[in-house]
Amino acid sequence: MIYLDNAATTRTAPEVVEAMLPYFTEYYGNAGSIYGLGSASKKAVIQAKQTIARSLGAEPNEIYFTAGGTESDNWALKAVFETYQDKGKHIITSRIEHHAVLHTCEYLERQGAEVTYLDVDEDGIVDIEQLRRAIRPDTILVSIMYANNEIGTLQPIREIGEIAEEHGVLFHTDAVQAYGQLPIDVAGCHIDMLSASGHKLNGPKGVGFLYMSKKARLRSFVHGGQQERGRRAGTENVPGIVGLDAAVKRALQKMEEKTYKVTRLRDYLISRIEQEIPQVKLNGHRSMRLPGNVNFSFAKAEGESMLIMLDMKGICASSGSACTTGSIDPSHVLLAIGLSPELARGSLRMTLSEDNTMEEVDIVVEELAEIVGKIRNMCI
Ligand SMILES: *Cc1c(COP(=O)(O)O)cnc(C)c1O
Repeated sequence: MIYLDNAATTRTAPEVVEAMLPYFTEYYGNAGSIYGLGSASKKAVIQAKQTIARSLGAEPNEIYFTAGGTESDNWALKAVFETYQDKGKHIITSRIEHHAVLHTCEYLERQGAEVTYLDVDEDGIVDIEQLRRAIRPDTILVSIMYANNEIGTLQPIREIGEIAEEHGVLFHTDAVQAYGQLPIDVAGCHIDMLSASGHKLNGPKGVGFLYMSKKARLRSFVHGGQQERGRRAGTENVPGIVGLDAAVKRALQKMEEKTYKVTRLRDYLISRIEQEIPQVKLNGHRSMRLPGNVNFSFAKAEGESMLIMLDMKGICASSGSACTTGSIDPSHVLLAIGLSPELARGSLRMTLSEDNTMEEVDIVVEELAEIVGKIRNMCI
């Protein structure tokens, strides 16, 4: 099997699983209990907050554990809307956000929010001038993703943060794809809230965090006990949090080496496809993109057919994002960068990890060339 769907999820690293195991069977105490067993769990939670805070240039008490990226996005948006109603109800986001942000914005619109969806250029970069013009006295939040999950484009986060800061507007970024892949400095980029998820960086599924600066001071999201300073109640997922801690440490330690290796694989895959398969279009920015992201549109070839035929050859990829698979609507991201619905439907996303090899890329290009040829012949 050749796994090229690391933007959908990653393999939990063996050292992460190993770090987690004792917290199921040995140190199973409730982090809120006062006896020794509970304090082992509590210590692990505090330790994980320190690791994550250090990775962002934040403070441990600005990190809140959640069940993943979706919950973190929901929390940031809904809580800002609730908390800042007296200032206004205007939110600015982009057309290419993950559904965890877009569908939350739609929900908030039904609650009375006014949402401006910024356009992006043909590479998927948000229109900065449009952002400046969109900010109003009643704007309470700018939410722009760090890196796009479909086309890999990185946003000018520092510039966006500076603009938000200048206008006294909170800035949230969905960094689920970027965290653990790229260095992130929340203070330098004026980020007030940041979402991340364990399973996108070789950690376990069902755990993530929301960074919330002291300045943001959002309301609680889940009501109940006093966990997470009363803002997100519920017994802590200690094994998951320990796994996230281990995954973050691992990602930081390997970042440089991994970026180098994965970027080389990416650029090799891109250049071979462009040279060997006619009528293709690379989606996303050529250099301002995630190290492991490759996204192409193939004229006169349909994404779902390519996926099924690749699967028969043992190759796992994606068309659009995992969340849009199964629906026939072309991806909102590809439409936003100006693709026709036909070209958007003919897209294929291949997301690499450091476990992939040049030999695998060679196999993928050969199989893909054959598959695209077959599909195009069937169409005629
Ligand atoms: C995967 C992903 C999410 C959702 O994260 P979960 O932990 O799966 O809930 C949100 N935003 C982006 C950009 C993602 O890639």
